[in-house]
Amino acid sequence: MPVLAVVDSCWVHGVEGKPVRVEVKVQDGLPIFTVVGLPAGAVRESKERVFAALAQTGFRLSPRRVTVNLAPADLPKSGSGFDLPIAVALLAARERVSRSGLGGTAFVGELGLDGSVRPVRGAIALAMSCREHGPARLFVPHGNLIEAAAVPGVEVMGIRTLRELIGILDGDIGFRPQRHRAPVAVLRCPDLSEVRGQGLAKRALEIAAAGGHSLLMSGPPGSGKTMLAKRLPGLLPPLAESECLEVTRVHSVAGLLDSEEPVKTTRPFRAPHHTISAGGLIGGGNPPRPGEISLAHLGVLFLDEFPEFGRQVLETLRQPIESGEVHIARVRQTVTFPARFQLIAAMNPCPCGMAGDNCVCGVREITRYRVRLSGPLLDRIDLQVWMDPVTWDELARTRADGTTSGTVLQRVIEARARQAARFGGDHGLNALLPADRVMKLCRLDPAGARLLDEGVRRYGLSARTVHRTLRVARTIADLGGRSDIGEFDVAEALRLRAGSGSRDALSPAGRTD
Ligand SMILES: [Zn+2]
Repeated sequence: MPVLAVVDSCWVHGVEGKPVRVEVKVQDGLPIFTVVGLPAGAVRESKERVFAALAQTGFRLSPRRVTVNLAPADLPKSGSGFDLPIAVALLAARERVSRSGLGGTAFVGELGLDGSVRPVRGAIALAMSCREHGPARLFVPHGNLIEAAAVPGVEVMGIRTLRELIGILDGDIGFRPQRHRAPVAVLRCPDLSEVRGQGLAKRALEIAAAGGHSLLMSGPPGSGKTMLAKRLPGLLPPLAESECLEVTRVHSVAGLLDSEEPVKTTRPFRAPHHTISAGGLIGGGNPPRPGEISLAHLGVLFLDEFPEFGRQVLETLRQPIESGEVHIARVRQTVTFPARFQLIAAMNPCPCGMAGDNCVCGVREITRYRVRLSGPLLDRIDLQVWMDPVTWDELARTRADGTTSGTVLQRVIEARARQAARFGGDHGLNALLPADRVMKLCRLDPAGARLLDEGVRRYGLSARTVHRTLRVARTIADLGGRSDIGEFDVAEALRLRAGSGSRDALSPAGRTD
């Protein structure tokens, strides 16, 4: 007589936790162990780990024919977290563990050959799946406990060994779920006041932070581009509780959480090297794992030496910048990763980096260098500033000008509140304003309208550039607390767009937009 046992579990698809039923059928016949339901990778190897762990725990099961079904079978399933539910179902099928404790409970964990229960990737996504689809109780490896318990509304229990779990299920070991601990965002970021000079670039950084605009800083080495970029996370509002969970989830799925910080409470800052591949940047592999743009979700993606990145690599950024997510297609499945990041790019003015009088580059070298930036991507960067090197004089003279990250952050928070009120509650930012709403929501006063009109006539600005200028001007007015966009807001937006007199340096191959 075949015996059937069913145990609830969950697994990670992209960054989403999905419920799965692990059905185990044990029947007489040749001792064959089969897993069906589109198992992939580590799932297929679970047999060895499960039987070794069971034997080590004192359960030597007589050889029978075992079929494991992972239902539903619509998507290929990967990961090592199925070991534990398979082991529990096997024991239940053989009446070696009480079935009464299995209802309303999901199990996830990788088994070691010695019967230990090892952490899995994406535990927080699994807890989120339980909150959404049930069951309400979840057993996870002890190493994943803090991370999973950050999700409210789920009873999470951490176990270290298979023996411990069996003791709990049989009622021999008393046990209480981990108390839910809500993550609290912390600000841990170098302060803006440590950067001397560079008033214009600091102002651009503040506008970028307030409206979610992308920014390109151009200047010779030593002008402080990297220093400034690293301070942007400190100018952005602290993560909300749900955002902490979102950031943690991406890092957990990527296998990048450490025990030092099991729940992410700071905005990410990612600075991949320019030799990175397209897969490394937007995500790749099979099963797909998040790339740098998703690890920068709700934080900052800093691309230093911007023109040195592969052209194809940069092209892959265009779609995620607009949609805030990235789709990765594989056989039988497409995975979507979140990618709402703020792009900060930096570049030297020419290959040697010196610019001006000290430059040793030929005209052709410089042209080739700038042409590498694709027009359409540069088109999506709202703010562009030129940075001169800070002179010794300036360093000595300029005392810290009193602009701390804290004072800027306060202005940014107020400007964002004005945007939220205007967009009717959703946390939209000016940078993401769709073209068809720009004209309606970016109202100009008469002087502002006149100046923009003049700009259009004098520089032949395209419709796209006008929209981008308006979005930036809207943010500048929001920082100043003005309901209509004025003349000075437009003037500053135009200046920050043109790169402050270094239009030549910033428009590759003489592009004028
Ligand atoms: Zn040069």
